[in-house]
Amino acid sequence: MLNILKRWLRDRALRGDAVHCPLCARSAVAFLPSGTPPRPHALCPFCGSLERTRMMGLALRQRGLPKAGQHVLHVAPDRSLREQLRATPGITYVAGDKKEPGYTYPPGTIDLDVTALPFPSDRFDLLICSHVLEHVPDDRTAMRELYRVLRPGGLAILLVPMSDRPDTDEDPAVTDPAERQRRFGQRDHVRLYGRDYPDRLREAGFLVEVERPATTLPATDVFRYGLKADEDLVLGTKAAASPRPRP
Ligand SMILES: [Zn+2]
Repeated sequence: MLNILKRWLRDRALRGDAVHCPLCARSAVAFLPSGTPPRPHALCPFCGSLERTRMMGLALRQRGLPKAGQHVLHVAPDRSLREQLRATPGITYVAGDKKEPGYTYPPGTIDLDVTALPFPSDRFDLLICSHVLEHVPDDRTAMRELYRVLRPGGLAILLVPMSDRPDTDEDPAVTDPAERQRRFGQRDHVRLYGRDYPDRLREAGFLVEVERPATTLPATDVFRYGLKADEDLVLGTKAAASPRPRP
């Protein structure tokens, strides 16, 4: 009862039309600050989506994905995007995460090691892996696994925190959380990717395209959807299989 009252008060206070969340399809006076240090204009007050979640949601909507009949793999799912995907009629949705003691996961989330995916090759039409690889010591194996389970012609959204440095900074000897925070940006990150991140995906087999939606959308939409000006959408595809020669 208290939660219902709180939600009602919050919804009243936030009622407005300045911003719109493409994931929960609700409008508000503002997005809320989030992160450490707090970023303004980041968090959807209703579904908890962040800038990158909304960027992914918009990208999928633009492409009309996923489509009925498709298999979708969502690694370490964000709640808001998960709800949007699960609501798509006719898809097979698989969510997986590396389950750690002390954390709770949405019902149906399977325990997943991204370096050894328990799926046959060429299984998924759409694969979403956002802000995962920077936690994985052997990210090259993870990338090859993600590539393996992607169906030829399928699409993978592969986001990581990326810096402007030319090369990825990584050092397996750095295990101290405070040093990881200082050097890689978070206590449990094992590297800080640089501009060479797309090349690492290419080495795993992906055809890679990098888009920056905030530079192609009208400024009013960038504000309205609460997108980051400098956030890249990194997309990987797998070439459609060439037809087999007739015997
Ligand atoms: Zn929302």
